Amino acid sequence: RAKEAGGGVYAAYHPKMHDALMQRLSLADDLRLALERDELVLHYQPTVDLTSGEIVGFEALVRWNHPTRGMVPPLDFIGVAESTGLIVPLGRWVLAEACRQAVAWGRPLKMAVNVSVRQFEAGDLALTVAEVLAETGMPADQLCLEMTESVLLTDTDENLARIVSLKALGVMLAMDDFGTGYSSLAYLRRFPMDVLKIDRSFVDRLGSGDAEDETLVRTIVRLGQRFGMKTVAEGVENAAQVAVLREMTCDYGQGYFLSRPLPSAEATRLLETGLPSLTAAS
Ligand code: C2E
Ligand code: MG
Ligand code: MG
Ligand code: MG
Repeated sequence: RAKEAGGGVYAAYHPKMHDALMQRLSLADDLRLALERDELVLHYQPTVDLTSGEIVGFEALVRWNHPTRGMVPPLDFIGVAESTGLIVPLGRWVLAEACRQAVAWGRPLKMAVNVSVRQFEAGDLALTVAEVLAETGMPADQLCLEMTESVLLTDTDENLARIVSLKALGVMLAMDDFGTGYSSLAYLRRFPMDVLKIDRSFVDRLGSGDAEDETLVRTIVRLGQRFGMKTVAEGVENAAQVAVLREMTCDYGQGYFLSRPLPSAEATRLLETGLPSLTAAS
């Protein structure tokens, strides 16, 4: 996880590192039990059509409702889940729970689920997805699997085969955090992705009037369009960003300005009321 480590090198042993290690070990034990004890929950963040303001789907984001630590965010345990292999059963649970929710909503909404590298490379993800679709009655074309560029970095032939078998199920594929990894352009050409999610770090700088920041995002949107992909702006935090993104013909937005990730009951309520008008907001 070089990204999180910031590429840093540990120069010397420090007692704090021991604490951190112990924390990770106990976290790994707890996480094993968390699955059995049903402590994981999904929150759902809407994906919004930037033209109509309609909710077109949700992204499922896992949280761990830990008995003593409280609500633990995914970045605090996905790494541990990956290094212990627990990501495989955890990922399967997330997939199934997200599909159950989508089926319960009974609307033609897309449900996006994040897939991490280990999950993609360990076991047969396509088989798992096929099983979950069958178990839950989820229509394949409503499910969208999000993966980052790091998933596509290694062992390209094998990974291409994996992507192809996922596509054969009829599910959609999204490239998450686009622009933060390596060789983005080559991968777009090689892998048949349906959705391009523009990383929050680019969207962050929009709306302040900086021409170069705008050019960068506009170019990514065009690139997605040229490759026949839907474009999603991540991390939309204000009305000015919505206005700029609409003008760029970016299809969808996701972010705190539109809605935070919500527990299931609140997401259900939001579906009934809809979001306040985007035009009025901007
Ligand atoms: P991601 O897939 O890029 O998800 C977007 C993250 O940005 C979420 O954080 C979301 O809460 C946050 N976000 C959304 N809108 C805004 C905004 O306007 N401003 C800011 N500052 N942040 C915003 P979260 O839920 O903490 O998830 C972090 C990452 O953890 C996700 O990034 C994803 O890579 C991973 N993750 C989450 N759930 C799962 C899962 O079920 N499986 C796997 N493998 N990874 C997951
Ligand atoms: Mg995602
Ligand atoms: Mg993302
Ligand atoms: Mg991210």
